[in-house]
Amino acid sequence: MSDNRESYAELAARVAMLEAERGLTLRQAQTDSLTGLVNRGAFTTLLCERLEQARAHGGQIALFVVDLDRFKHLNDTLGHHAGDLLLAELGKRLLADCGPGEIAARLGGDEFAVVSDVKDVGRRAARLVQVVSAAQTIYGRHVSPGASVGVAVYPQDAADASDLQRFADMALYRVKTRGGRRWSAFDAELRAESERRRTLEAELRRAIPAGEIVPWFQPVVDASTGATVGVEVLARWNHPEQGLLAPAAFVPMAEELGLIHAIDEAVFDAACRLAAPWVAEGLIELVSCNVSPRDLLDPGFSRKLIARLARTDLPATALTVEITETFLLQDLALARRHIERLAAKGVSIALDDFGTGYSNLRALMHLPIQTVKLDRSLIADVGRDARVSKLVASMLHASRALGVSIVAEGVEDHAQALFLRSAGCDRMQGYFFARPMSGEAMAEMLQASRPAQPARRRATR
Ligand code: C2E
Ligand code: CA
Ligand code: CA
Repeated sequence: MSDNRESYAELAARVAMLEAERGLTLRQAQTDSLTGLVNRGAFTTLLCERLEQARAHGGQIALFVVDLDRFKHLNDTLGHHAGDLLLAELGKRLLADCGPGEIAARLGGDEFAVVSDVKDVGRRAARLVQVVSAAQTIYGRHVSPGASVGVAVYPQDAADASDLQRFADMALYRVKTRGGRRWSAFDAELRAESERRRTLEAELRRAIPAGEIVPWFQPVVDASTGATVGVEVLARWNHPEQGLLAPAAFVPMAEELGLIHAIDEAVFDAACRLAAPWVAEGLIELVSCNVSPRDLLDPGFSRKLIARLARTDLPATALTVEITETFLLQDLALARRHIERLAAKGVSIALDDFGTGYSNLRALMHLPIQTVKLDRSLIADVGRDARVSKLVASMLHASRALGVSIVAEGVEDHAQALFLRSAGCDRMQGYFFARPMSGEAMAEMLQASRPAQPARRRATR
């Protein structure tokens, strides 16, 4: 209840400010200018009010979140103006379809919401899918954007506005991953999933300061000699009950919760500490660390990384930072600043997962990127599928022409290794050579592969 009062007070204050600044009316500040529907800020306040009324009178409130399935595609192919026309028309349709007890809102982008006190939730959801999906004519063309709907209900599913929104979003996400064009309600399966996430969140918050997230290492070998020349650092969670967990089990959640930064720092510090002596003894030349696109969006990222590195014994020239192309596309100017700042210190940059996205060779020409890592999905069919082999060979050729070195990832068998070597790949990494291993195992492996010392030096010891 206090939340509700606070958010209403906040909204009133914001509106007063806007009015004072730009002479806006209350109505303008609460509506979305494109569709004329209630905007996100006002919607949250109205939802809280409805819930409070339902709480007082024992009523039921359903929240439907609506998302277009093909909006991005339509926007990209027909242009932004056409996209705007489509959204404006949807606004009109939703408004016309809503009964007296309902509120329709645009939450942003192509996401809409309806709050309703209807009893037959399924029927209402199905109708929303139908209304929003119905074809429109834009610039004389028939377009049908398709729509998915997620729904959660007070009081059976959730007790407050934030849970209600979260649960409706979970239902929406599930229906979208199953192909969309349908509706889905929050249910026991999603409740179990939500509980799992809550537990994982609490455990993760505890695990980071407890030092349970540790660096593992996978050898990177020279393609022509097969000798280990570097290591890639890969995070593992030493979970007290579940044992060793791979990044897939916790990195996405950590990114969502804003915890990835703390994980990357902890893994980076520990990895530098462990690997610095390997570099100092000449056992390897390179230590390659992964960073999340989230980290990179922090304008202070490169400066902080350089400061952390300076506190370790690892020379900057031995460090490679692996970034993904997605990040380059998100904010090229910021990417350039980070990359140039790191390069100036001697840190090298590798473009990870190359071949899964746009594989933009232009980025390689215009940024000081020294290495590309060819993704495992490309390597899988290399040496077997002639077309893939040709593609990879030409990627290797193009990268070489640009003076970029290539690491092939996920090399699992001899045939792949043979092909890559003959096609001029510089370095390789994969289960064929070694699986990721703990710091101790890596140290042992490196010591065991150390070339025999000259007899004279051994005798003097
Ligand atoms: P990545 O950077 O592409 O790392 C390579 C992944 O491929 C690793 O999975 C590695 O164990 C796996 N791999 C290596 N060789 C083979 C092979 O021959 N066959 C197969 N099937 N797989 C192979 P892992 O350790 O599960 O890591 C998954 C992803 O998690 C990484 O993909 C990286 O994107 C992310 N990640 C790992 N550590 C960190 C970290 O410290 N911070 C951040 N932000 N992300 C991390
Ligand atoms: Ca990587
Ligand atoms: Ca990769």
